[in-house]
Amino acid sequence: MTTTMHEQFQVLLDENKEHHCGGFGKNKTCVRIVAMAELPSRFGDFHIVAFENNEDHKEHVAITKGDVIGASDVPVRLHSECLTGDVIGSLRCDCRDQLEAALKMIGQMDKGMVLYLRQEGRGIGLVNKIRAYSLQDDGLDTVEANLALGFRDDERDYSVAAHMLQSLKIQSVRLITNNPKKIQQLTDYGVKVTDRIPHIMPPNEHNLFYLQTKATKSGHLIDFHGKQHLKEQDDRAIITGMSEEQIRETEEDSWK
Ligand SMILES: [Zn+2]
Ligand SMILES: [Zn+2]
Repeated sequence: MTTTMHEQFQVLLDENKEHHCGGFGKNKTCVRIVAMAELPSRFGDFHIVAFENNEDHKEHVAITKGDVIGASDVPVRLHSECLTGDVIGSLRCDCRDQLEAALKMIGQMDKGMVLYLRQEGRGIGLVNKIRAYSLQDDGLDTVEANLALGFRDDERDYSVAAHMLQSLKIQSVRLITNNPKKIQQLTDYGVKVTDRIPHIMPPNEHNLFYLQTKATKSGHLIDFHGKQHLKEQDDRAIITGMSEEQIRETEEDSWK
């Protein structure tokens, strides 16, 4: 860590000790920076910034690259926690591919960050998500399983992300997303979004089903083996090699 960055972090930590505001979003969640450290990783050299909040015990983190505090046009990826995908490498979703692609991309940039948001299963939690998986195993209709998972478009909330960006004094962001709705949400919470960077993942044996799939329905994809893949990140996946037509199909699916 450079001296300047270390000093900037220390100032933020000191300021945040006393921080308390009316919060962001419908839950009026206020977050506070409580710890920071270096985080060398296989994807690049990052720092990790830990946040606490006043509403629940969810500890969110920002994984930052380079000199981001107070910066403008910072590339930012919002990632919602998915233990089964991110950690275990579950193939029921593409969360891990999306997270790895984002970390790799940002790891090669001068600056950028991933906000890792602890809203597992769209905020309904791990247990309920696994219940929904179980319902699918039993042959439940995907739409019902999606509802059990909380997969309703209107419930997505990035107020915590907006507060985290404000806590880090980010002036403006270039959002890494394929979903313009995400830009709208952040903008509504007062974040200045100057650009959108498409999130394009390299093809691999695990995300290949997107390339093979044409039939999309109600926010899910079914691969050639009849296995359902849920969209736990509210971003359609775009993989290098997809045709314009395939991208359009996932787009139509995502915007519902
Ligand atoms: Zn606050
Ligand atoms: Zn997932």
